[in-house]
Amino acid sequence: MSVLQKLRIQFFTKPLLNVLNSQGFLPSISETEKTALRAGGVWIEGDLFSGRPDFAKIFANPYPKLSDEEHSFLDNEVDELCSMTDDWEVFQKRDLPEEVWNYLKEKRFLGMIIPKEFGGLGFSAYGHSCVIEKLATRSQVLAISVMVPNSLGPAELLLHYGLEQQKEHYLPRLADGREIPCFALTEPAAGSDAGSIQSHGILFKDSTGELKIKLQFEKRYITLSAIATVIGLAFVLKDPDNLLGRSENLGITCALVDTAKEGVDQSRRHDPLGIPFVNAPLTGKDVTISIDDIIGGHKGIGNGWKMLMESLAVGRGISLPSTSTGGSKLALFTASTYSAVRYQFGIAIGKFEGIAEVIGRMGADTYLLDAAKTFTIGAIDNGEKPVVANAIMKYQSTEKFRRIIIDAMDILGGAAISLGPKNILAHAYFGAPVAITVEGANIMTRTLIQFGQGVIRCHPYAYGQIEALEKGDINTFDTLFFAHIKHVIRNGIRSFFLGLSRGYLHRPVQGNVTARYEQKLSWASAKFAFLSDVALAIMGAGLKRRESLSGRFADILAQMYMLTASLKRFQEEGERKEDEVLLKVAMANGFNEIDKAFAGIYQNLSQGALGLIFKSMGFYSKLNSFGSVIQDTDLHKISALLTTNGAVRKRVCNNLYLGGRINELLEANQAMLEAQQAVSKLKHSGEQALDETEKDLIKRARKLQNDVVAVDSFNHDEYFRC
Ligand SMILES: Cc1cc2nc3c(=O)[nH]c(=O)nc-3n(C[C@H](O)[C@H](O)[C@H](O)COP(=O)(O)OP(=O)(O)OC[C@H]3O[C@@H](n4cnc5c(N)ncnc54)[C@H](O)[C@@H]3O)c2cc1C
Repeated sequence: MSVLQKLRIQFFTKPLLNVLNSQGFLPSISETEKTALRAGGVWIEGDLFSGRPDFAKIFANPYPKLSDEEHSFLDNEVDELCSMTDDWEVFQKRDLPEEVWNYLKEKRFLGMIIPKEFGGLGFSAYGHSCVIEKLATRSQVLAISVMVPNSLGPAELLLHYGLEQQKEHYLPRLADGREIPCFALTEPAAGSDAGSIQSHGILFKDSTGELKIKLQFEKRYITLSAIATVIGLAFVLKDPDNLLGRSENLGITCALVDTAKEGVDQSRRHDPLGIPFVNAPLTGKDVTISIDDIIGGHKGIGNGWKMLMESLAVGRGISLPSTSTGGSKLALFTASTYSAVRYQFGIAIGKFEGIAEVIGRMGADTYLLDAAKTFTIGAIDNGEKPVVANAIMKYQSTEKFRRIIIDAMDILGGAAISLGPKNILAHAYFGAPVAITVEGANIMTRTLIQFGQGVIRCHPYAYGQIEALEKGDINTFDTLFFAHIKHVIRNGIRSFFLGLSRGYLHRPVQGNVTARYEQKLSWASAKFAFLSDVALAIMGAGLKRRESLSGRFADILAQMYMLTASLKRFQEEGERKEDEVLLKVAMANGFNEIDKAFAGIYQNLSQGALGLIFKSMGFYSKLNSFGSVIQDTDLHKISALLTTNGAVRKRVCNNLYLGGRINELLEANQAMLEAQQAVSKLKHSGEQALDETEKDLIKRARKLQNDVVAVDSFNHDEYFRC
């Protein structure tokens, strides 16, 4: 260490720390929070947070591809499963048919993440995601029932933390459905604050002297629990008699509990918005298990919270983004095809600008969502555990799906409202709030995880400084602190000059179309990084409580992430001319959101004189904005592409199950296209000008059109039976 640094520490850093400590400016982080913070890793969110993203490095990340086996599974087993599942019937009977459950088990749908050596399918995260996505385009119940055993639960936990004998016993049985798993964390007093669970296990010695655990648990909202044979249970392990000689409270622990054990009560069900997937409370009274039931055995004692945080951090990027993307594709495909076949005022409703505007918006959002889902899952397959990106994906995908499905419902009008076998959208619509709530309810995911966790994990210096402080390592803290200051100054300068040049000073990596967007992202990143450091400097640990503000930072980070993923998709797919307009609207929309979030930050960052400075910066920022007004013509162009170009529609809504009512919609659309010339002849020259073939074409098109526009009705007996 140089003399200069020694002096600096003595006369600057130490006194500074004392002042900051006395003002409560430095964060105090509980053990539970620390575990959550340490879970997973940092991927390109770190670049975007740095203020100087290296786009060459970002775009060099691999894009995922399906293996031949995964392709074949999607085309065969998944299609077969979809064709076996009639969603209306599932709702009527309030369960999947037995033959569907049997098929799921036989074809190892419940063991997609389990390696082949244990009898599972051993799919990549991308393959697994595509299966969930396609199932979601047919039936939410189907998608959820397959999704849960493949996401956070016994299999995932065993794969990472299980003992060999636990893996060998359970994994083959989970893969072929002999065991049905559920994962039980949530409790009445512990929802978002999952670390505060009350369920507990007491260590004791049985009559033979063997160590056992007596469990008391009260869980709720547990998916699959009423039919589960094995519970992945999270509880607090206590050792009041100090049998292990460690401490009385051993911490959150995860164990596998056989539901056949005495004391387990699976007798009740919840009714989640009428969607008939299995979701239920789950209680246990004096349920006895052995130490060997703890995941990881002795090593797993007290490590439950770490296991949960690590697994949840990865899972957030897969399950819900896949169901949400599937649901969005279903909504877009249905709405755009329906708009071409449904006529009002003598023309297809898709030709009305009001409808075209909505389809345009849905198209751009679905393009962006699919891009971000694919890019993120590619990273997971590449070994990354991008905790903040996954939280962004969970939030953004479920929120976008909620908006897209509502838009589609509006377009279908009464046909989306009237329940019955002909209704394609209503059941997917019921699922939107469920996706928002699970795996971390969205409001908290936005404010606390994306930015709260992001600022500590993704910031190049914040986490290091906190760690150094905790260890009392003043030297490291001093080094990082001054590097941090340099970083802030650099970002301030970058942000200023990139702002002045509107991003043109950034030299883009590649692409004619994408270059300008990349420049704006680089500029947004510099401004974001600078401003988040300013907010940290003003508020310190208090920023965590200013959720309205941190939520806006989260929005900027999320938009930058989603837009970067869209650029990657556009490049990966060979910069297709017809996709330019999708990219353009997605970009304009994202940059407008970024502008809105920056405006909110400037307006609310501080009060008094400082507040006035920020407000004037906000005024300049409004004049020098990133976004632009979305052109009506661009929205209409997207709509025209999706309503009239079947190939583009299929590509944007790829991986959709095309059977059932969707197929009827497609057939009607096709028949109407084939009858177009005959219809125009009829209009201009009258019926006498048509030959028999033309008459048949028109007749068939009208019949199919009427069929898909028709909705269900029930006689009174049927209605009251429903
Ligand atoms: C259908 C369904 C299936 C589920 N499946 C499972 C399962 O299989 N296993 C399992 O263990 N759990 C499961 N859950 C539980 C789910 O993960 C929880 O519902 C979720 O964590 C939220 O808890 P809560 O519903 O009690 O909401 P609460 O914690 O009461 O939250 C209420 C609201 O407050 C917000 N909030 C909370 N804290 C903050 C904060 N600090 N800042 C800002 N906002 C905050 C939340 O975002 C939310 O909007 C399921 C839930 C449902 C509804």
